[in-house]
Amino acid sequence: MQLSHFQRDQDRRSGARHAADRTGGSTKTPGLVDGFGRRFQYLRLSVTEVCNFRCTYCLPDGYQKTAAPSFLTVGEIARLVETFATLGVEKVRLTGGEPSVRRDIGEIIRQVRATPGVGKVAITTNGWNLARRIDDWSAGGLTNLNVSVDSLEPDAFHRITGHDRLAAVMAGLDRALELDVPSVKINAVLLKSAAGAAQFARFAEFVRDRPVAVRFIELMRTGDNADYFDAQHVGGEVLRSWLEAGGWTPRVRDRDDGPAVEYVHPDYAGRMGLIAPYGAGFCDGCNRLRVTARGKLRLCLFGEGGLDLRDLLTGDGDRAALHARIVGALGGKAAGHRLAEGLTGDMQRLAQLGG
Ligand code: SAM
Ligand code: SF4
Repeated sequence: MQLSHFQRDQDRRSGARHAADRTGGSTKTPGLVDGFGRRFQYLRLSVTEVCNFRCTYCLPDGYQKTAAPSFLTVGEIARLVETFATLGVEKVRLTGGEPSVRRDIGEIIRQVRATPGVGKVAITTNGWNLARRIDDWSAGGLTNLNVSVDSLEPDAFHRITGHDRLAAVMAGLDRALELDVPSVKINAVLLKSAAGAAQFARFAEFVRDRPVAVRFIELMRTGDNADYFDAQHVGGEVLRSWLEAGGWTPRVRDRDDGPAVEYVHPDYAGRMGLIAPYGAGFCDGCNRLRVTARGKLRLCLFGEGGLDLRDLLTGDGDRAALHARIVGALGGKAAGHRLAEGLTGDMQRLAQLGG
């Protein structure tokens, strides 16, 4: 008799635990491990829901204020990150909305980087003010910069984002390279209207002499973009075939790599990659947890609801209780998203939770 998915989930979850690695008799970093044996060392933290861009697949009408913006303060972020770090989180990505619309984003970067145990501080940004801010972020300890650039063609960039700012964004990216920010990547959403040899060749040319990884993300269906998705979604195979035909080969993955498969080529300094959320096994290696800008723990981007942590993030909040609440929630992490069934959870758009 075959077990249902639900039963299998339940059985595995009952094995969820808060693991403590033991090496040579001494307790190493305690870790967060779910019922499927997945270890979480990576936190994606949204710091705002606000965005100043109007990307066609995300916020085509711009950011609409639905509730009083009451996003985590620097103090709350410090408490939160410190707790996750004691649970083994080593990398924190700041995202949104657009994280750089916060005036205190530089301070947030410094604070997160100063947290014992956190070796990598990353940001995902649309790059609108990158050229002005990157010196400060780099000095504050930023290690990983992801800039979203869907097209290297100025008119297409303008059409997709609502802003004619491609040159300014790319100037910021080049400044990050001058500053030797350790990891610089570009995120580009794969859209049917643009995907093809011409677009891929243009990005490849861009990375010929730059140590930048360009990662194409397959468009994801969200609550708000169903029609757009039907018109614009294209499978990652189109990129994979182009790369393989051109002599690009998949590279060995680092432990804290996300779900991207990156390709290298001897003639290019940079890399080209693909994030294919609809691909088989995409969730098997999930290594990230998310916290929303209002302080809710989300176990999956495409899940429902979230566990409120905010009451425990105040100055006198109970640290042990915060620790226990996070650990206790992990058993509820499902095996994977259900995008292929058209189920997107309660997420209307990625700007809402942090992509
Ligand atoms: N505003 C920042 C930015 O655009 O880089 C950070 C937040 S944004 C939600 C994070 C990433 O999600 C961006 O690279 C964006 O292109 C991507 N994204 C947004 N909506 C998406 C969708 N429906 N499918 C795939 N990627 C999406
Ligand atoms: Fe803003 Fe990023 Fe969404 Fe574009 S993808 S609208 S920049 S949050």
